[in-house]
Amino acid sequence: MAPRTPHHRLDPGVRPQRVHVHVEVDPRESTGFRGEVALEIELDKKRRSIRLHAVDLRISKPRIEIAGRIRRGRVTKIPATGMIAVEFDEPVPAGTAILRLGFAGRLRKDLSGLYGVSVGERRYAFTQLEAADARKFFPCFDEPALKARFSISVTTSASNKVISNTRVRRTERRADGRKTVHFAQTPLLSTYLIALAVGDLEVSKPVSLGPTEIRIWHAPGKRAQTGFGLKAARECLRRLEHYFGIPYPYSKLDLVAVPDFEFGAMENAGAVFFRETLLLIDTKTATLNEKKRAAEVICHELAHMWYGDLVTMAWWDDLWLNEAFATWMAFSIVDDWKPEWKMWLDFQHGTASALELDALRHTHPIYCRVRTPEEADENFDRITYEKGAAVVRMIERYLGAATFRRGVRAYIRKHREGNTVAADLWNALSEASGEEVGHVVRPWIEQEGYPVVEIRRAKSAGRPVLEFRQRRFLEQGPRKRAKSRQPRTRWPIPWVGRIGGGRGGRGKLERHLLSGARHRISLKHTPRFVYGNADEGGFFRPLHDADEICRLSRSLGSLKAVERMGLIDHQWALTRAGQSSVGSMLDLAGGFARESDADVLATLRKPLSFITRSLIPDAAPACSASMQAWLLDHFEEPFVRLGWKPAAQEPDEIRLRRAVLLGIVGGIGDSPRALEASQHHCDRYLTDRSSIDPNLADAVVSLGARSGDAALHRRFIDAAMTSASAQEKRRFLLALGDFRDEKLIDRTLGFALSDLVPTQDVAFLLMRLFANPAARETTWEFMLCRWDRIRERVPPHMCSYLIEMTPALLTTGYKREVATFFRANPVPTGERALRQALERFDWYRGFRSRASKDLIASLRDFSR
Ligand SMILES: [Zn+2]
Repeated sequence: MAPRTPHHRLDPGVRPQRVHVHVEVDPRESTGFRGEVALEIELDKKRRSIRLHAVDLRISKPRIEIAGRIRRGRVTKIPATGMIAVEFDEPVPAGTAILRLGFAGRLRKDLSGLYGVSVGERRYAFTQLEAADARKFFPCFDEPALKARFSISVTTSASNKVISNTRVRRTERRADGRKTVHFAQTPLLSTYLIALAVGDLEVSKPVSLGPTEIRIWHAPGKRAQTGFGLKAARECLRRLEHYFGIPYPYSKLDLVAVPDFEFGAMENAGAVFFRETLLLIDTKTATLNEKKRAAEVICHELAHMWYGDLVTMAWWDDLWLNEAFATWMAFSIVDDWKPEWKMWLDFQHGTASALELDALRHTHPIYCRVRTPEEADENFDRITYEKGAAVVRMIERYLGAATFRRGVRAYIRKHREGNTVAADLWNALSEASGEEVGHVVRPWIEQEGYPVVEIRRAKSAGRPVLEFRQRRFLEQGPRKRAKSRQPRTRWPIPWVGRIGGGRGGRGKLERHLLSGARHRISLKHTPRFVYGNADEGGFFRPLHDADEICRLSRSLGSLKAVERMGLIDHQWALTRAGQSSVGSMLDLAGGFARESDADVLATLRKPLSFITRSLIPDAAPACSASMQAWLLDHFEEPFVRLGWKPAAQEPDEIRLRRAVLLGIVGGIGDSPRALEASQHHCDRYLTDRSSIDPNLADAVVSLGARSGDAALHRRFIDAAMTSASAQEKRRFLLALGDFRDEKLIDRTLGFALSDLVPTQDVAFLLMRLFANPAARETTWEFMLCRWDRIRERVPPHMCSYLIEMTPALLTTGYKREVATFFRANPVPTGERALRQALERFDWYRGFRSRASKDLIASLRDFSR
């Protein structure tokens, strides 16, 4: 007997081959759309009923064509599955048939399916179909493994531009003055990669790479902002073609700047959609970080053209196959294009945030069983992307870059236009390397969490040795389950350590595969220092004893910048987990006051900000003045020395350092001098964007808001509404969340839910308010009162971001409120986020008492 298909999955015996979709849509004339779809299907045996997906669509005229004969059918909805069944009086025989359906729907407002966007007087329609929202656009077999060739045609006003996955084959003028645009048939594609954009769009001049023409589409008036994106796309595409050894697989490449878009970007084959901030760049006013982020996202999406679009995961449980790979690849390629940008330091910020999330008990493995679309949506998180990417990088380093690439090329070639599971990749990598790769990789993909690797020095027969022990790292310490029959989790760790030699320098690298709970290696000489995660190439935390931390603190110059970032981040994690004191965290942080690298300094922000803005006001308010004194004593002088104005030809490195130091001194340390100067600079920046170095803009605008009055609040709203650059709009919009005045907090909350804020930004503005110590509680009260309206304005996936922010409320009383509220008002895509948030409240309760005593003792000398 064949296993029964689970009720949320389609019948695998009915496969689409070719799909014709015709849709009539004019976002200016009406909010509705309608169309017909003809699905050429292959049946393995006869059936009376055919299931496919359709959500929020009115289906009409169901019929099937078999060898030229047409039969009528009936449509029934299958509750809670997103499916319909088309039933026939007589069975449809095995073989080929064409299923025809009419459909109609309304342009959605939640940025999914086919949705409407208004920008001033202009109206647009865009698609966003991943994970399972193609079914909201047209009736289809909406699973990634059911690839088909799509022919799309669109009827709309003659003045609208229409963009889809392929080139326009022909445009037909209609008697009613409208036009019908027919697109060429696509290669085999999964439904989630179909794209449609309709409306008043302008297009850049194309740039070419071989036969591929690359264009950027945008709302009118933004042509001047397309140069950077076009260049980044061309540079990345060229390197990707080289990496994969296969030319770009689609007929053209359109990059579309969408004025309201839920995600960062979407890798629709041949028609990639982006948030405006990630594609359109005004090179004069954008910060370096904004440019780097845009280049990385552009490259991420282009990597998907091979890895995701051409070769696609068979089901959403292997989403990481797409995302982890594209994330890793983007950093690797952009680093090759712009080595001076030091992309691997940005990568390390992502890895650090994945390490933090994965230290929770309520984390999940990278490979994650998925039954429903809601569960698939929950996996678009830092485990799938950032942890996945870090694990891919670890494997690449373990196998060697050339071997790894050989395996990836073979994998893409073998499965092109098909679907895969993880084992297909392991097989290709095993073949390329001549060793069985699965046993090293699978525990990292299939087990949740990661290890902390304890490293101790010892002697054996008079020779120096290093002893290793591994155990799972949990922020709240190991579970107390003495009699647990479950074996302890272990990982095969491709360990690379940096071993300090006698005379300065970077030392040398030691490589070992640590497989058991304990491991020992012998060294030739007693090392000056040992750093247990060279290049931060492994997804684990090294644990050094206090003596080793001292040696490392004295040898910071021998560590690479990325390792100094790691050192800070691991020490903070161990402090949070109660394995090290807040005092030694501050000692270590203080040692970085003269640090020259901006990313290393940026790593200090998290611990310093949490201690200063959350822990101290809640648990040790008496420490407030001495903490401020400590911060300014260490970091104000380096900031003052740099001054506000960059020297002529000043390198980016120094500009970025100035911006991070301003954030620490002004944003965390409340330096009166820095705050006063920021107010002044903010005021000037509002009228003259060239008055400060663009890299300072975020900090200046945010600090300006802190003590800002109603007049400044109004000016920020004006700037957010009228700025020509998407980055500036976003900067002013989100900084509305930084005002401290009570009345202005209320005003921002009201404004957040008004139609003036694009749907894509509502959640981010509320998150910013949650991060503002003066606004946390009010924001929570507001969420409780206005939840219905929030659900209308915030797309489902983004509601889980709001749940993630609730631990900012800190206390157990709030934990109870959060738990009660979201149990009564469940967010289907946020169930895991809720469990994680509640766990964080619990963690804080333990941390609070421990850390506050410790803090009081260590800040004694800094009291004023
Ligand atoms: Zn992606």
